[in-house]
Amino acid sequence: MEDYLEKIYILIEEKGYARIVDIASMLDVLPSSATKMVQKLDKLGYVIYEKYRGIILSQEGKRLAQHMVEKHELLDRFFHLIGVNPENIYEEVEGIEHHISKQTAFCISSLVHFFEENPQILQAYEQFRNQRADQLQTRETGKKNTP
Ligand code: ZN
Repeated sequence: MEDYLEKIYILIEEKGYARIVDIASMLDVLPSSATKMVQKLDKLGYVIYEKYRGIILSQEGKRLAQHMVEKHELLDRFFHLIGVNPENIYEEVEGIEHHISKQTAFCISSLVHFFEENPQILQAYEQFRNQRADQLQTRETGKKNTP
């Protein structure tokens, strides 16, 4: 449900409107499932859905969606910072963002700020991570070579 609000918000920001077909393709679901969910969001008061006029977010829906987008951006920044392969970041953030509590988000955002304000510590971490990556690589190749 939250991912629907997030996508509706992004579509409205980018295109000015959100259509069922676009929501469905962004979430990789059938348009019929997207319609059902949007109707449910309408019942819950998060969106206003009129079949021929499109979808708009209610104030509460917008608040929740903004919150999701912020959380997504935070996790995206965090994953980049700690060195996650950029190719995997989007999918992994989408996978975990709904399970991160407010308190966890606060801790992650504190860590992000801490790293950003202390580049020498970030650098020390990067060095440490690269060394470990090398060690793991050696150990794995070492293992493969022993019968
Ligand atoms: Zn997201």
